Amino acid sequence: MLEGFTPWPEAFGRLYRENGYWSDLTLGEMLESSVEKYGSKEALIYGDLRITYNQLGEKVNRLAHHFWDLGLKPLDRVVFQLANTPENVYTFLALVKIGVIPVMALPAHRFTEISYFVQHADAVATFTPTVQRKFDYVSMVEQVRAEQHCLKYIFIQGEAKNDQISLEALLDSPIEHKYPDDFLARYRPDPDEVAFMLLSGGTTGIPKLIPRTHNDYVYNIRQSGKVGGYDEDTVFLAVLPIAHNYTLGCPGLLAALYYGGKAVISPGLDEETVFSLVEKEKVTIIAAAVPLVSRWVSSPVPLRYDISSLKVIQNGGARLAPELRKHIVEQFKCKPQEVFGTGEGLLSICPLDADEDMLINSSGVPISPGDEIKVVDDNGNEVPDGQTGELIVRGPYTIRGYYKAPEHNSKSFTADGFYRTGDIVRKNERGYLFTEGRKKDLINRGGEKISCEEVENYILANPKVENVCLVAMPDEVFGEKACAFVLLKAGETMTFEELKDFLRKQNIAAFKLPERLEIVSAFPLSPAGKILKRKLREDIIEKLAKEKASKNI
Ligand code: AMP
Repeated sequence: MLEGFTPWPEAFGRLYRENGYWSDLTLGEMLESSVEKYGSKEALIYGDLRITYNQLGEKVNRLAHHFWDLGLKPLDRVVFQLANTPENVYTFLALVKIGVIPVMALPAHRFTEISYFVQHADAVATFTPTVQRKFDYVSMVEQVRAEQHCLKYIFIQGEAKNDQISLEALLDSPIEHKYPDDFLARYRPDPDEVAFMLLSGGTTGIPKLIPRTHNDYVYNIRQSGKVGGYDEDTVFLAVLPIAHNYTLGCPGLLAALYYGGKAVISPGLDEETVFSLVEKEKVTIIAAAVPLVSRWVSSPVPLRYDISSLKVIQNGGARLAPELRKHIVEQFKCKPQEVFGTGEGLLSICPLDADEDMLINSSGVPISPGDEIKVVDDNGNEVPDGQTGELIVRGPYTIRGYYKAPEHNSKSFTADGFYRTGDIVRKNERGYLFTEGRKKDLINRGGEKISCEEVENYILANPKVENVCLVAMPDEVFGEKACAFVLLKAGETMTFEELKDFLRKQNIAAFKLPERLEIVSAFPLSPAGKILKRKLREDIIEKLAKEKASKNI
């Protein structure tokens, strides 16, 4: 077993097998079984490229051979930051097939985050594009390699220089039969082993790593696809980063491949690109998020296309307001499906045959009969149905610990292994969940999580700053955005632009930058001397409301 990974206790493993949740299938075998069943059927579409299951299987095997040949070995960790392209899918599947563990970074991450992932996971390789949206990923990873000596290989999607390795070149070069033909079949990761790592949307410092095993994730895909109504006719459109749990496997692109459907990768997020693809490829399901849905329902573009194939628009990452769900029904004549999920595991999805009230208002039902759900008060006692409390969970696809984080694990998990989600929910008597808020100190920017502590630390590094509090302010499109309340040292001044420039120089993902600065002369304090963030949140809500009212006069 990978060191630093917390496995499920043996008794639970037995139970999950007995109940058929864990099927002892690796992610590689899951793909092979689809290739066998659906061979010449189309699996993956990107622009003019149409890839069948057979071709997908062949490309994955080819890359797996080359990776092995180059020296990547089971349990090696690699940092994976490829853009949404078919190469992303081939590479991810090839790595997990030979037991190499990708750490799934997001395209938005920059030097500070990537360098930390490499160092924390002791990664031997990175996988990045060349230049994307004007950002030069290659220079960034070379800079990381100069500092992190564990990093041996730099894989590039695009032109590679010096000792960098081009993924295209690997895909173009035939396998040299150095190993027995059946070596991939003979070599098989242990299904209980870590397959890849996701990033937590957590609250402390830089994201923690979430180890997901073959057994737990194959089940995650299979079960979420079942509840999500996936079948051979599913045409799934991936618009958000594939490296994020939601688009990857909740049910996402991998469930489309598991059930013999088709996955279409959108080259862009704009309405023209997305809805022309819906018409062209007869897309049946899109995994969307709050900011996208907000834009789509107020745009004339979608209805210029024939979108009659569309059955479901899913929403994940943050709660979609009931009003927006109603717009989906009325304007797009399809069903809104709430996907309330966590990278740590638990997924709650609204079944498509749920009554309208649940489709419009709920956060779905936990997908597995093996999910042990509790809603607890501050003392850890369960509250009656209908009352709010923190959601804690244990189950066949919810992790028992973050990677190499014993101290944090003792806070994030109960002694008996329940994961504390930090989400405040209400459960009804039928088991449906309703998200009502959160306990954790983060900002949910339309699904992108901003850890307040992390950003406060970046701001505190500014010599002009005495103290800072980052709080959520309401936003019509994103739901929430970050507002920084800053207390300056005596005699100092700071503009919003200055703060943003300072943060940009720290090479962090742009979505973490505050979108408003409030300079204060003191922070509101509790009788115990603790800063009252709640009061700051109320202050900014009030201020924004006043500004809006004065604009409307
Ligand atoms: P991540 O692991 O980044 O996907 O973040 C998981 C967290 O996102 C959850 O604990 C929730 O706080 C939030 N979240 C995800 N999906 C939803 C949703 N549909 N409704 C409300 N909150 C959500």
